[in-house]
Amino acid sequence: MELELRPFQAAAIQQLREGLRTDYLRQMLYSPTGSGKTIMATGLVKGARLKGKRVAFLVNRVQLVEQTSATFRRYGIDHGVIQGENTRREYENVLVCSIQTVARRGLPNVDFIVIDEAHAVAGSKDYRGIIETFSGKPVIGLSASPFSKGLGRHYDNLGGPLFERMVIASSIRELIDDGYLVDCDIYAPSEPDMSGIKQVRNKFGEMDYSDMDVGQAADKPELIGDIVSHWFKLARGTPTVVFASNIAHSKHIVEQFKAAGVAAEHIDCYDDSDERREALKRFERRETTIISNSALLAEGWDAPFCETLILARPTKSLIRYLQMVGRVLRPSEGKDKALVLDHSGTVKTLGFPTDDLPLELDDGKPKQTKSKTEEREEPLPKACPSCSYMKPAKVHQCPACGFMPEKKSDVEVKDGELVLMRKDAKKATKMEKQDAYSQLLAYAAIKGYRDGWADHAYRDYFGVWPKGLRKSTQEPSEEMSNWIKSRNIRNAKRREKELKNAA
Ligand SMILES: [Zn+2]
Repeated sequence: MELELRPFQAAAIQQLREGLRTDYLRQMLYSPTGSGKTIMATGLVKGARLKGKRVAFLVNRVQLVEQTSATFRRYGIDHGVIQGENTRREYENVLVCSIQTVARRGLPNVDFIVIDEAHAVAGSKDYRGIIETFSGKPVIGLSASPFSKGLGRHYDNLGGPLFERMVIASSIRELIDDGYLVDCDIYAPSEPDMSGIKQVRNKFGEMDYSDMDVGQAADKPELIGDIVSHWFKLARGTPTVVFASNIAHSKHIVEQFKAAGVAAEHIDCYDDSDERREALKRFERRETTIISNSALLAEGWDAPFCETLILARPTKSLIRYLQMVGRVLRPSEGKDKALVLDHSGTVKTLGFPTDDLPLELDDGKPKQTKSKTEEREEPLPKACPSCSYMKPAKVHQCPACGFMPEKKSDVEVKDGELVLMRKDAKKATKMEKQDAYSQLLAYAAIKGYRDGWADHAYRDYFGVWPKGLRKSTQEPSEEMSNWIKSRNIRNAKRREKELKNAA
């Protein structure tokens, strides 16, 4: 088969080549799930072969050895395999290698290494060891989620960072706009209470809930009942993949779907591989409507026809989140949009999966900002109170059901008198109090009022007098300006009433 690169794919490969020419030896190619990462890898390998270079393509799972080998065969790339007992044709100039086997037997003599799923390099001694022995020669990592801690960390024996540079092939949003991926609608009807659930560092170096503990919070009959009822309401009959908290949770979800008469199956890593393949085939043939798992299908599994994703695994890991959602964003005939039913509270904390991400290799140093998610520039979405559709921040009317939440007014009417909304002074931090006071002082200064005006207004705002605060000024926020407006209205009404009573 002829290898046809899309323009952005060709441009990314060009950037990597230019990087090599300007002495970047170890480069990371970021390319979202569904952007044709394997095609770009094939392009790279072909390019290296044209220059007479010998290439090793390293992967960390047996399944990926098979997949890559099949892709190379399809595009007519002669290659050998180095993977345990499947090792064959080691004399070839392109070798698809399992990192575990290569770490044991040593790297074959090659000029160039490509690493798939390269976000795993940071946390892997095997990978780092290979890169160190290969020092001085070019390495290209491929990843749809290069957010692992330490991917850009400095190592003395490498004489520089693990990966020196990131090349961005495309973003999820661009791929959707260009029709290479489909957009998704997200509903978030319910979520487990995650307070007090322990977090541990995952294999990518991110903090996340542990599988066991997350099950405690999520694996409850009423929550599963909610998953089933919302699927009937919003996604009935569509091919659906479920990501559950753990194996037991996944099995319980499948039981409830079956009890409701839906063809559902659970798979996990303990099934034998034939059984698993058969289960996936039944799903592809649409004999099964719902396939449920805990983490097995998050990486490397492809089912473009799959339209609906049920997110039942609460996670704080951006890598895991994007891997899961990536499963349903592939285009397929008759599929305009994917549907995500979030029963995990993830979308409201990590944002839309289609948001642009802060892309930078982590240098392993402690950060002032806590995590990638907190660096996101885009504000977080909110669920529509009426239909639970996840709306972008600042969108008032629900695009799905048209519901308009009532704007919270700063003034309410009680016993015929306007009552100002008051902040709870006990819940406000010292900083919030100082900000409010400074804004009121600034307003007083603009209007030519005395500082006493600000003190009284502050008392109306918090119910207490300002104490221990500086007399600094700060431009009033929109919220504060609105509050002052409503206070002015209240005071005016009060005066009106007083005058009437006096008359
Ligand atoms: Zn709505």
